[in-house]
Amino acid sequence: EDVKPEQPSAAPAKAEGVKISSRDRVVFPDTGQTKGDLADYYEAVASIMLPFVGHRPVSLVRCPQGRAKNCFFQKHDSGGFGDAVQHVPIREKDGGTEDYLYVEDARGLLQCVQMGTIEFHGWASRSDEVEKPDRMIFDLDPDEGLDFGDVKTAARDIRDRLADLGLTSFAMLSGGKGVHVVVPLSRGHDWEAHKDFARRFAEALSVAEPDRFTATMSKAKRKGKIFIDWLRNQRGSTAVVPYSARARSGAPVAAPIAWNELKGIDSAGIYTIGDAKHLIDRAESKSLAGWGFAEQSLPDF
Ligand code: ATP
Ligand code: MN
Ligand code: MN
Repeated sequence: EDVKPEQPSAAPAKAEGVKISSRDRVVFPDTGQTKGDLADYYEAVASIMLPFVGHRPVSLVRCPQGRAKNCFFQKHDSGGFGDAVQHVPIREKDGGTEDYLYVEDARGLLQCVQMGTIEFHGWASRSDEVEKPDRMIFDLDPDEGLDFGDVKTAARDIRDRLADLGLTSFAMLSGGKGVHVVVPLSRGHDWEAHKDFARRFAEALSVAEPDRFTATMSKAKRKGKIFIDWLRNQRGSTAVVPYSARARSGAPVAAPIAWNELKGIDSAGIYTIGDAKHLIDRAESKSLAGWGFAEQSLPDF
């Protein structure tokens, strides 16, 4: 058995003792990355990822046979997870209670990877107070024909409209086709206020510029437009978390970026699981300092 040498830099989040089986199994057939590569990626980025994924109920995209085969979303424990994958009871619509999953450390992340997880999606609230959301996301979903330039302009416009309301926001490349505009919020308001604000904000944009934006999920109404997916902001919904890998060709990852970088970027999938070191350097750089954090409350709108 391989014993890894001690890493010189003391990473605050080490996945002590998590055994990854079948490290050589190919998870991304187009580019050849394996389950071991994915585990190494998550262990490397754990310290920059945990501030965003830790202590949030998660949905996992598990693909035990690789990224293109039989992937499924999982939000409850079906057995087999390690002890660092924690449970939080959450009230269901029918009045019952279900246990949801969350992690709080690198071991938890790696135990999910051991179970075939590629993607981590998180709730907009944390496990210690699930009824009080603390981040809003506008997930920009462009219609097929649109190019990334349209998505970039839309993201900046949304940033500006949010700023008009006194809200600081941050940009994240989804690793797929779009950009997520992320608005951290102090806890206090409930889900209804959260969802209501998100819906009305998206609708106001689509009314002001109906040729560019739609706030309706319908694909038919999306022709040539960007769907401002505000539905990520309802109780029970999730969005992909920063630094999550994506189960897509080339093993891209969701990546925080600075607003002033956006102009020079030409797709949402420019970073991959091969870029852990670069992503860590970026996360520690001036341009991303404070990314995703702001003390601000939901304003009246
Ligand atoms: P892209 O940029 O390609 O749109 P994305 O992550 O934004 O990537 P979407 O299809 O817009 O992908 O979905 C937004 C979010 O909705 C996802 O990140 C995920 O958390 C959630 N989601 C989408 N489909 C499902 C599903 N079938 N079950 C649970 N959650 C889902
Ligand atoms: Mn999207
Ligand atoms: Mn979407």
